[in-house]
Amino acid sequence: MQIAVIGTGIAGLTSAWLLHRSGHEVTLFEKQSSLGMASHGIQISNGSDSLCCDVPSRMFNPLLWPNLSNLYEWVGIESTHVDPRKSFCDFETSSKVASKAILKIGDTFDFSRVPQLLLLPTSRKIVTDIGKMIASVETELENLSGSRTAPAVTPNFKEFLELNGYTNEFIYQFLYPALSSTVCTCSYSGLDLYPADILLSAMRMLIGAKPLQRTTLGTQHTADRLSQNVEFIHLNTTVSNVSSSNEKAYVDFQKSGKVTHQEFDHVIVATQANSATNFLGSEFQLEKEVLGRFNYEDVFVNVHCDEQLMPARQKDWATFNFLSARNDRAAMCSIWLNQFYPEWETDNDYFQTIMPLTSPRPETVIATAKLQRPTVTHQTRSDIEQLLELQRQPDRRVWFCGSYASPGIPLLESGVVSALRLGKQLGCELPDACEI
Ligand SMILES: Cc1cc2nc3c(=O)[nH]c(=O)nc-3n(C[C@H](O)[C@H](O)[C@H](O)COP(=O)(O)OP(=O)(O)OC[C@H]3O[C@@H](n4cnc5c(N)ncnc54)[C@H](O)[C@@H]3O)c2cc1C
Repeated sequence: MQIAVIGTGIAGLTSAWLLHRSGHEVTLFEKQSSLGMASHGIQISNGSDSLCCDVPSRMFNPLLWPNLSNLYEWVGIESTHVDPRKSFCDFETSSKVASKAILKIGDTFDFSRVPQLLLLPTSRKIVTDIGKMIASVETELENLSGSRTAPAVTPNFKEFLELNGYTNEFIYQFLYPALSSTVCTCSYSGLDLYPADILLSAMRMLIGAKPLQRTTLGTQHTADRLSQNVEFIHLNTTVSNVSSSNEKAYVDFQKSGKVTHQEFDHVIVATQANSATNFLGSEFQLEKEVLGRFNYEDVFVNVHCDEQLMPARQKDWATFNFLSARNDRAAMCSIWLNQFYPEWETDNDYFQTIMPLTSPRPETVIATAKLQRPTVTHQTRSDIEQLLELQRQPDRRVWFCGSYASPGIPLLESGVVSALRLGKQLGCELPDACEI
């Protein structure tokens, strides 16, 4: 069959890979000038050399990302462990001044670097609450799954933390900074509304897990491998309309100012949910309503050399530096790229700041990217269910997948799971070891 896939994030690329492998002729559409998954990546010039830097820096491990890890293995993508050291400090946004580290740890729940800081009352409270969370996460999850039959009564994350008496120090100087600026990349108000069981499940998987990994050769290489055998790839191409009849589906796309209309047996929409509502034809009214309910937040990422966005003392610098502005209910994470990419040979320090609380000084900025990430609430569960239900209708020709369309935190794993499930529905044979 001839199948169009719109969008080349991880979901679109996984779909394309699976469909091609199953003997279909695949056409990929992407509005960016390079494959979407890698479209923000940059090369930093370093003398006669250049340093390849993914934007954003994405990580995974086989426990929380089993299907992504399998996919990478199937297509021959190698990965490498990331130095997991983390440092937490306060940041005063008006004066742009960071404090000394409040907490320095190895992996998120590893106490090896903690003792020297235990004299600080704040650190003691945080460490006590980390211990409490580790000890109770299993039981709490069992309790929450017991109340899942009536989702409205399951607490959101804010309610859960309040009900269980976690301290403000733990919440706003450790947990929210870590979750909001990396794992979920969303505002504190977005985190407040997350269903508690989703975040607790993720934390249970991360407790005691090995350090996270990144792909060794970077995201561009991964995207190229996933799409290497795809028949047609249209970059710089914006899809402006998708329609369908009982037998066929149609894509209107715009490339170099010219609009083309093309017929396919099936179309897979692997864009962000909010993007899809812009080009779906009028016959998809219900789909547009459901897709329009997925909520996205803008996420800014800066690559720069400004040490002001790092902990005040260089001896507190870690690979991941969480700086929280408690009064603003917000935090940023500055990744020290020299630690993240130990293979880089350079004397300069480079940083990648996710959700910067203040802009780096202009002369230090190397790149800025604006991304979007879905936020998750109790409502999201029923929206995903409704989207899946619509896709069980007979004679469908237009389908949806993306990281927003799988339950849980929208991660690379969710995009892969969503694409594999859809591929199965379209009759593709899945590789062994799929856990969907
Ligand atoms: C700062 C940040 C850090 C993150 N870190 C991690 C991490 O460490 N680990 C992890 O697992 N996940 C991480 N994520 C989440 C992860 O990146 C996303 O869940 C995933 O990339 C989403 O993939 P997707 O294929 O669903 O959608 P997308 O990647 O959003 O792909 C959709 C594509 O559709 C294209 N498109 C849209 N409209 C059109 C149109 N009309 N015509 C043609 N093309 C169109 C877009 O250009 C885009 O390329 C992070 C996210 C952010 C923002």
